Amino acid sequence: MEKVAIEGCYTYDTDLLKKLLSSMFQEIDFFPIKNARVLIKPNLLTSRTPEQAVTTHPIIIKAIAELLKDYSCSISVGDSPGFGSTNKVLISSGIMEIIKQLGLNIANFNNNIIKKINGISPYREFLFGDDPDQYDFVINVPKLKTHGMMGMTLGVKNTFGFIHSLEKAKWHLRAGQNRSLFASMLIDIHTIAHPHLTVLDGIVGMDGDGPSSGRPRKLGVLGVSKNAFALDDYIEKLTHLPFPTPINQLAFKHGMIPDYKVAGNNIPSIGEFLLPRSMDTDWSIPRFAKKLLKNVFTKKPKVRGNICKGCGICSKVCPAEALTVSDNKPCFDYSKCIRCYCCQEMCPEGAIKT
Ligand code: SF4
Ligand code: SF4
Repeated sequence: MEKVAIEGCYTYDTDLLKKLLSSMFQEIDFFPIKNARVLIKPNLLTSRTPEQAVTTHPIIIKAIAELLKDYSCSISVGDSPGFGSTNKVLISSGIMEIIKQLGLNIANFNNNIIKKINGISPYREFLFGDDPDQYDFVINVPKLKTHGMMGMTLGVKNTFGFIHSLEKAKWHLRAGQNRSLFASMLIDIHTIAHPHLTVLDGIVGMDGDGPSSGRPRKLGVLGVSKNAFALDDYIEKLTHLPFPTPINQLAFKHGMIPDYKVAGNNIPSIGEFLLPRSMDTDWSIPRFAKKLLKNVFTKKPKVRGNICKGCGICSKVCPAEALTVSDNKPCFDYSKCIRCYCCQEMCPEGAIKT
């Protein structure tokens, strides 16, 4: 039986986190080995400060790295951001400072490694920015957030970061508006990445229009498991989601959510948890109507008020070329738009809503 350890924790304090994590590691039977080569893979979605709760908090990374240093591990930290270079996002997230303080390595995720799988999606190979197989341990460190297309981004979704930045748009385009197809691809990528440990940063998470324009929320959740499907399943229950996310639904269908037991002395209770507006109608209408009227019922991205600065990032990340910016104003072609919400995710001003 798999184990999930959850603790209530309301502050980013290195000593407190080291103490909690070291007992949680024991609880789930995770024991680092001496001199291991370790990759820590946070959520480095895009350039934001730790207070914005878009990226994994640097103190969690520090606590994990200091625990591993006791075992003389060689530690690399990296991810492939949705926009911007790994280095740039490491700096804004505050993680670069930890890398320098502790003498860690940077994994730039700018390689082209073909990984093959015969999994649950129709796709048989993926181009990875870094090879998980070159490490003794891969430690997946997601942020607990809502997600416009997938409902939530937790442990399984976080490994999409293994895909090379430039390739991410292609996968969005292939899946189009089919959330289940996109979820199947995310599950296959997670299976290839096979992290040995997932540490969820939900101390301050995000609800509402996540993963970048929602509300930072002090949720007090620190979660650890060797199995991200089990951890994600429990977090969906803890946040009282009215329906399973597409990833969880598919994982359940394919028997990928193992039996698990939850350990924890101080499990936080989460009150109201807002979902992204993009999920409002999409989940409440009957399946047949959803299929027929997808374009009508799936929320359209729109520009909010006059917050837009005309930077053009939304147009650069749009996989469907459905968005142009002229005279500093974004203009959507909804006949091409696949409702992936990448424009909303990457807008640095939070100017796009659904
Ligand atoms: S909507 Fe956001 S990303 Fe797009 S041009 Fe305006 S500020 Fe930039
Ligand atoms: S306009 Fe936005 S939601 Fe539509 S396809 Fe482009 S990035 Fe995705």
